[in-house]
Amino acid sequence: MKKKFTFAVLTLSISVISFLLYNTLKVESTEVVVIGAGASGMSAAIEASNQGYDVILLEKMPYVGGNTVRATAGINIVGSEKQAALGIVDSKSLFVNDVLTSGHSENNQLMVEKLADESASALKWLSDMGADLDDIGILAGHSVARTLRPSGGQPVGSEIVRVLKDKVDSMRIDLRLESKATAILTDADGKIKAVEVLDRTGRSYTIKTSNAIIATGGFGGSPEMYVYYNQKLKGYKTTNSPSATGDFVGLVQDLNVQLVDMSYIQTHPTVSYEYGMLITEAIRGNGGILINNKGLRFADELENRDLLSEDILAQPNQEVFLIFNEAVKASLASSNDYINMEIALTADSLEELAEIMRVDRQTFLSTVSSYNGFVASGEDHDFGRRSLERKLEEGPFYAIQVIPGVHYCMGGILIDEKARAIDENGAPIPGLYASGEATGGIHGLNRLGGNSLLDAVVFGRIAGRLSK
Ligand SMILES: Cc1cc2nc3c(=O)[nH]c(=O)nc-3n(C[C@H](O)[C@H](O)[C@H](O)COP(=O)(O)OP(=O)(O)OC[C@H]3O[C@@H](n4cnc5c(N)ncnc54)[C@H](O)[C@@H]3O)c2cc1C
Repeated sequence: MKKKFTFAVLTLSISVISFLLYNTLKVESTEVVVIGAGASGMSAAIEASNQGYDVILLEKMPYVGGNTVRATAGINIVGSEKQAALGIVDSKSLFVNDVLTSGHSENNQLMVEKLADESASALKWLSDMGADLDDIGILAGHSVARTLRPSGGQPVGSEIVRVLKDKVDSMRIDLRLESKATAILTDADGKIKAVEVLDRTGRSYTIKTSNAIIATGGFGGSPEMYVYYNQKLKGYKTTNSPSATGDFVGLVQDLNVQLVDMSYIQTHPTVSYEYGMLITEAIRGNGGILINNKGLRFADELENRDLLSEDILAQPNQEVFLIFNEAVKASLASSNDYINMEIALTADSLEELAEIMRVDRQTFLSTVSSYNGFVASGEDHDFGRRSLERKLEEGPFYAIQVIPGVHYCMGGILIDEKARAIDENGAPIPGLYASGEATGGIHGLNRLGGNSLLDAVVFGRIAGRLSK
């Protein structure tokens, strides 16, 4: 009996030790490791899998989606059927010109042209997977309406994440949640040889691979990091997900990778003063205006984000309200959230709204009245706003106090048109790719709204093709 017991204990101990040893020293291998499951990483994983590669997709959070799932306003597409149906004339050169103007010409123009060239194909790819991108609107800095979003103006990010995640699942891609990439290893020739992972149990393991795609997003969720790269941003709220902690910086620190434009960090002009939540640009695109605490408009509400942010910060007490009405709300389903969550002040009349905001009633009424006149005549004589979508006539009326907040990191890993990571000498690093907000150089000094999702999908797909 005693012998049997000792034997059982011994067998159990050996099994436990083997299990622990196996799990500690476990080395797997695959053809491609994609790091990060936002729009860019999932696009890369799907495309790589479509090419026939074995893929492991790592995601450090317990869910996919990163910053992507927060996106509301839309994705830019040049020359969509929607534009054609509405008689909107767009072109590659008009788009490129808008992007360069917004980026103060610090963009890599070839990459911007690639975005334009690949946008129709990105739309088809997403639509074929079932994405609803049936509504169109204009965002700040665009010459024409070209930003697509789901029907009725529903948020775009959750729709894109939905279709990509469904595809990842239906293709049986090996998606590992709560699995954080902690290092990318290279051999003596500088070629990628492995990715190290920390899993949900705190266990580290290694995946052997010749190809790593970094799609970890930006660093707008880390105040330490954005203040480190741009000290002017001290004290700013952020619109970003807590997952956006710039992990790409640590992952490439020993790989001689070029990081570019790291101090170029975009502030979004309309972030809720009270809640720190992004108030989508589409509200202004669909007819909202901005007033200061004197009840006056002070800028073209659709000028580029960097300029409008500066204009807001220059207002008395930096106190600014975004004003819209029921007609704007009805045109944009995503705006319902601000009312349901009671972020917006609500009033049946403009007089009542002025009172709640504590701005001078007569000045406010006259501001709105002259704005409605500009809409009727099609010309904004005060600030030259190009798009005058609808009058603010019928109530209820809404006001949200806004302030600029950290929104998007233009800087990151330098890539070429094949999404290959570029080293300090200007050469691609064999087997290392990057895409999405973890990369830099495309958007210049100031990203045009709606271009990040396009960038994430276009270069994610290109990365997944591994230079082919
Ligand atoms: C509130 C808000 C609204 C926006 N609206 C729009 C819009 O309307 N249109 C537009 O074009 N852009 C918009 N943007 C910007 C856009 O959403 C993002 O820039 C874009 O989605 C980034 O995609 P990505 O795949 O590169 O990164 P993300 O979507 O952030 O995904 C990165 C993923 O990588 C994971 N990850 C990070 N580090 C690791 C690691 N070490 N190991 C494993 N996983 C890791 C993260 O958890 C995350 O899931 C908005 C952004 C915000 C915050």
